Amino acid sequence: MKIYNTATGRKETFEPLVAGRVSMYACGPTVYNYFHIGNARTFLFFDVVRRWFQYIGFDVRYVQNITDIDDKIIAQATLDVVPAAQVAEKYATAFIEDTNALGIEQPDYQPRATQYIPQMIALIDELVKKGHAYELDGDVYFAVESLPGYGSLARKNLDDLKVGARVAANTRKRHPSDFVLWKAAKPGEPKWDSPWGEGRPGWHTECVVMSQDLLGDTFDIHAGAIDLIFPHHENELAQARARTGKPLANVWMHGGFLNMRGDKMSKSEGNFFTARDVLQKYDAETVRLFFLSKHYRSPIEYSPELLDEARTAMANFYDALQFVGWKPGNDAQASWSDEAKARRDEFIAAMDNDFNTARAVSVLFELARAIKNEKDYAIELRREFARLLVDLGGALGFFTDAASRLEVGGALTGKLLDLLVGYRIEFRSRKMYDMADRVRDDLAALGVELKDTRDGTVWSVRHDEVE
Ligand SMILES: [Zn+2]
Repeated sequence: MKIYNTATGRKETFEPLVAGRVSMYACGPTVYNYFHIGNARTFLFFDVVRRWFQYIGFDVRYVQNITDIDDKIIAQATLDVVPAAQVAEKYATAFIEDTNALGIEQPDYQPRATQYIPQMIALIDELVKKGHAYELDGDVYFAVESLPGYGSLARKNLDDLKVGARVAANTRKRHPSDFVLWKAAKPGEPKWDSPWGEGRPGWHTECVVMSQDLLGDTFDIHAGAIDLIFPHHENELAQARARTGKPLANVWMHGGFLNMRGDKMSKSEGNFFTARDVLQKYDAETVRLFFLSKHYRSPIEYSPELLDEARTAMANFYDALQFVGWKPGNDAQASWSDEAKARRDEFIAAMDNDFNTARAVSVLFELARAIKNEKDYAIELRREFARLLVDLGGALGFFTDAASRLEVGGALTGKLLDLLVGYRIEFRSRKMYDMADRVRDDLAALGVELKDTRDGTVWSVRHDEVE
């Protein structure tokens, strides 16, 4: 299994810290608004990473935080004239609702920053005592020059950062890239007591404390969107290294953006749709397929046309399943026929190659085509392909509710059959016997049997004989 590691700039063979286990932390939302569909891409992709590790037999411990104290939350609370905690609670609830609606499995742990304030103060205190941090008027800053190798994750060096820095608001910082660990509270802001006075932790401190508390000093994978590499992840890493001398994570994974007319979709730019908006128009599997049709590190352009195509493709998958009478059951088989195995191997190879979902999805398309292709494949093989489609699709988070979705189709099928039975009765009453027989024979060819009983005509579907 190979994963592209931002820290080394290479695809590397994944070596878990503990055999058979994966510890993974993905930066969660700052809850001051509904999240946009670009954020959804990141959350959804790491849901797929987790599902894939589980599919290939790993025991996954997945942590995703909720940042429930931050400048943006305080700014929103000021606008809404409510306490910051109320804003955070409202949008944390919305985050969970919306990720559920997207078919994203909730993480094993979902720590909130405000639950970890004492641990954050302890880390900052330790960094001050070790000479990696200093206080300035109630704020505490990390001294980037105190840590050799600062900038390694983002491949930046301190001289360039100094030149590139805008005139810092606080010119007394020792280096323009020194970042805040603790912020003194302004009047009316949420605050906690600390050795440096009342204030609150900085965002970079929040994530490093929560991740290490739940996953240990060094864990397998730290994940997020590409814009988090610098400064957020660089600064998490700096604090971890300053405290333990060890890396925070062995693999750093970063997902690409969703663009809107060529620009990164973002709340601050105002060019975004919330995930809620999009889910009004498209179901969760359509959104998932739209995202997974591209490699996670490539940018995607938001495109209603491609979303429409994804919807058609999803319908086609279900159509294929219905076509061969797929029923919920044991889709994961211990052994597959050579033809099924070849396709399964191709899918696994794609996913094991840095989560090439675009290639993996194309294997699903190929399976759907083969399932409907009566000429070249025997019915037993096509049914096996249907099981494989559900099994592999399930590893990407598709078909989790296939049985009930097909039942909806089934209800429609029932109505259509009732309609045709009605036409046959009508034809017979008008003595159009050739048309009446044609309805019966054509249905028989599709595996639908009509029986005339004393109480009327009843139909039954013979799945086993569908050819
Ligand atoms: Zn984070």
